[in-house]
Amino acid sequence: MVIRHNVTRSTELLEPVVYSLSDHGKNKVNPPRPFEAIELGDVDRPLVNHDLPDLPDISEVEVVRHYTRLSRLNYAIDLGMYPLGSCTMKYNPKISEKVAAKIGNIHPGDTEAMQTILGLLSNLEAHLEEICGMDACTLWPAAGAHGELTGMMIIKKAMVERGEDRREVLIPDTAHGTNPASCTIAGFKAVKVPSGDKGYLEASTLRKLINEDVAALMITNPNTLGIFEQDIAEISELLHENGSYLYMDGANMNALMGIARPGEMGVDCMHLNLHKTFASPHGGGGPGSGPVLVKDELAPYLPMPWIVKDEEERFRLLTNAPQSIGMIHSGLGNLSVLMKTLSYISSLGGKGIREAAEVSVLIANYMKKCLKDSYYLPYDTPTLHEFVLTDKYQKERGVTTMDIAKALMDFGFHPPTVYFPLVVTGAMMIEPTETEPLDEIERFIDAMKQIDELSRKDPGAFSSIPRATPVSRVDEVWAARRLVLTWDMVESIMGEPPSK
Ligand SMILES: *Cc1c(COP(=O)(O)O)cnc(C)c1O
Repeated sequence: MVIRHNVTRSTELLEPVVYSLSDHGKNKVNPPRPFEAIELGDVDRPLVNHDLPDLPDISEVEVVRHYTRLSRLNYAIDLGMYPLGSCTMKYNPKISEKVAAKIGNIHPGDTEAMQTILGLLSNLEAHLEEICGMDACTLWPAAGAHGELTGMMIIKKAMVERGEDRREVLIPDTAHGTNPASCTIAGFKAVKVPSGDKGYLEASTLRKLINEDVAALMITNPNTLGIFEQDIAEISELLHENGSYLYMDGANMNALMGIARPGEMGVDCMHLNLHKTFASPHGGGGPGSGPVLVKDELAPYLPMPWIVKDEEERFRLLTNAPQSIGMIHSGLGNLSVLMKTLSYISSLGGKGIREAAEVSVLIANYMKKCLKDSYYLPYDTPTLHEFVLTDKYQKERGVTTMDIAKALMDFGFHPPTVYFPLVVTGAMMIEPTETEPLDEIERFIDAMKQIDELSRKDPGAFSSIPRATPVSRVDEVWAARRLVLTWDMVESIMGEPPSK
């Protein structure tokens, strides 16, 4: 099948896969073929595969245009605001990319270069321990959820070493969705704990539920309502008296860094999301990084290798720590993300880190104040870097959270997180982040107000929104029933009307 492109419609949805554009013997003008350009140098000849892989036969200009067209179907933080609550889609400084790219050329066999890398990693551990008020750190988990799992395995191991078989992990209903999954995979039973009317876990609730089978409480702080867990000090005391640990999901450290330290709140074990708080690009499956930090008591169980110094003051990777939970990732974790984080922390400095947190809280609160007359605010407890609104007022006019999210796309914004947290009906969870310019913030507020206006004047209009995107309103039920996962499948259904 030959597909013709209309260059004036560069946001045409039906961009085929690159193999479909391939055409053997097509008349094409090409720069030197890439395989001839590769410097084989010292590579062992017998190791070189002389049969070219089955690559598409396509000219350079065609491949560049193909990927450029694809990129124009997408939305990105480099195009506009991405106020996806809990995800901290802040702008990622380009200098971090340069720093991370440098390490791409280092060979692991270069001992001196590796000393430098281990020194940088050790430095990063120290920075993260300082920011969190914790004693020790592992940098290897590849994502937030991977950090949670690592943390839960550490707690499980500590229980085994203590000769106890506690099975329960308590998780508030405002926690992130990955928390119950992580503790279940680690072999615990997740027990849901209700938050109070003010949107945080009350110590009195915990007092009723705690028992000797509780290994830990896993709390997201600030929680997914953007609310600081105000009873945390009392909660940690209750847990410790009971021989249980306090795990903190620290993916939302963006609101706390430089201001409050989990270690001082009584947290025993926590993870960070470097790809959120510390400005690494994320989305689309990674790479990410979810370091785990612990107090001294849990340090012997940290995953290997450990970065240590030998008698000659040289860095070494320790791989025989007897009580460690073992290895949880190959190599040195997602090294490029770790380097971006170090670059971010070093360039901001302590003052800048604190300022980033303060501004993220200020912007979110400004936005909340401007929008709370147009949209229902389910909790009026003070919030930090994000807040939750609902579609309660608009729903009376037949307009839902999904309609509002779609309408925002026509204003050029990525929608906020919707229908989460589950404790709020029709939730819209908005996190602007500190990197948005004030103009963009005002434009978002204005868009939300215009959408509310439209819900009064013409609620019927929402059924055909968005109009300005490559794909208009998606028939989600149809899409869920008929999965179209490959380009071949797209071709086979082209022209077929969606069946209701
Ligand atoms: C994003 C997030 C996670 C999960 O992190 P991943 O890197 O996506 O695995 C966990 N907890 C909270 C609060 C989060 O916001």
